[in-house]
Amino acid sequence: MSEEQAPADEGRPAGSGSEEHGRFDLVIRGERVLTTSGIRPREVGVRDGVVVALQPLGNGLEGDRVVELGDDETLIPGLVDTHVHVNEPGRTEWEGFASATRAAAKGGVTTILDMPLNSIPPTIDVAALEEKRDAAREQAFVDVGFWGGAVPGNTGELRGLHDAGVFGFKCFLLHSGVDEFPPLDAAEMETDMRELRTYDSMLIVHAEDSRAIDHAPSPEGDVYEKFLHSRPRGAENLAIAEVIERARWTGARAHILHLSSSDALAMIRTAKNDGVRLTVETCPHYLTLTAEEVPTGGTAYKCCPPIREASNRELLWEGLADGTIDYIASDHSPSTLDLKDLENGDFAVAWGGVSSLQLELPVIWTEARRRGFSLEQVVSWMAEKPADNVGLTGKGRIALGGDADFSVFAADDAFVVDVSHLEHKNPITPYAGRALSGVVRRTYLHGQEIDGETPTGRLLRRGMIE
Ligand SMILES: [Zn+2]
Repeated sequence: MSEEQAPADEGRPAGSGSEEHGRFDLVIRGERVLTTSGIRPREVGVRDGVVVALQPLGNGLEGDRVVELGDDETLIPGLVDTHVHVNEPGRTEWEGFASATRAAAKGGVTTILDMPLNSIPPTIDVAALEEKRDAAREQAFVDVGFWGGAVPGNTGELRGLHDAGVFGFKCFLLHSGVDEFPPLDAAEMETDMRELRTYDSMLIVHAEDSRAIDHAPSPEGDVYEKFLHSRPRGAENLAIAEVIERARWTGARAHILHLSSSDALAMIRTAKNDGVRLTVETCPHYLTLTAEEVPTGGTAYKCCPPIREASNRELLWEGLADGTIDYIASDHSPSTLDLKDLENGDFAVAWGGVSSLQLELPVIWTEARRRGFSLEQVVSWMAEKPADNVGLTGKGRIALGGDADFSVFAADDAFVVDVSHLEHKNPITPYAGRALSGVVRRTYLHGQEIDGETPTGRLLRRGMIE
């Protein structure tokens, strides 16, 4: 097959032929390269951190470095995780840019978007954004972008943050877990949607209703079922309905974070059919873990909204398969071990957040392949679709003109999760001791292998790179 016959949907821009000749900085070749037309035998030529050649295997592209994939290896695009709490500055003992981005790289994630809360100050004005960027700049091993925060009284700050390059704005509809990031009520959310609509930014929402949570039973104690009943599906359903209607009224783009309640799938489907500008993510823990298996006092599993019943998990997979749920993000939200209240295992006291940044790809791959989903589909959910939703169209796929962010993935290899091998700052995860399929052997950022020593990550602004 000649190069001219390569499918056009691999992203070759018209008239780009000249860049495809001569020597490349890096050539990766093998039988299994995940391109936009599927897994194909290909040679990938990289120059200046960008994919500039994508040709049939056997063409013999020449590079300063040439990597031959092993028989059991697939070259896949670097994942784009749009939901990560790095917590630096201010709560760097919970995580931090160096540890989070090292963990990301080890897990095949080459781009993260950092959430605006749990760091201090929260990212609710431009000065706070600049503090965060200063903290990240010298220690990022993957590319890092930032969300802004929408809190009561900061509507006037949103435009400045947008112009400074945040990818959108996060709000809560109930207490966020930290006092410095207060929630909006529905009317305030609508006001901010109207503001964001004027420059087509996006509001991303932690959708649980505070009144419903206030009326639910207390989570006190080490029994998971009590915690589950303290965060009922109804709280999520009510808040999601509110987000949908306000998005409908305002025409703004809205995104439901970490969907857990499968009840909400029907109204999400209807809203999307109606043309409401709505996208939805869910997380590895809702797709792989179940309430039934959480051990007594197992606070590593605590997150909000909670991990629900096995029957709920099955419906979330259906929602993902039919496109009602757009993509998967980790919601990596660590804390120190003492805040997980390991001694008493009290679900009322423990910090709510699951750590999974380094593990999300094998966690999802293990479950997805068992259900008959392909690696292409998994990568679409974890790379291409999140990248597209935040406008990072040069990422999330291996295509001509795109960033040379890849990982080498051995899909049939397996390992057992040992927390001492994780780069996360705090060694706690509900996946500890699990046998998982899929090993990330190497990760490349802008055509360079990430070595964990020299940070080469860039800070991203919406629509550009610093
Ligand atoms: Zn989160």
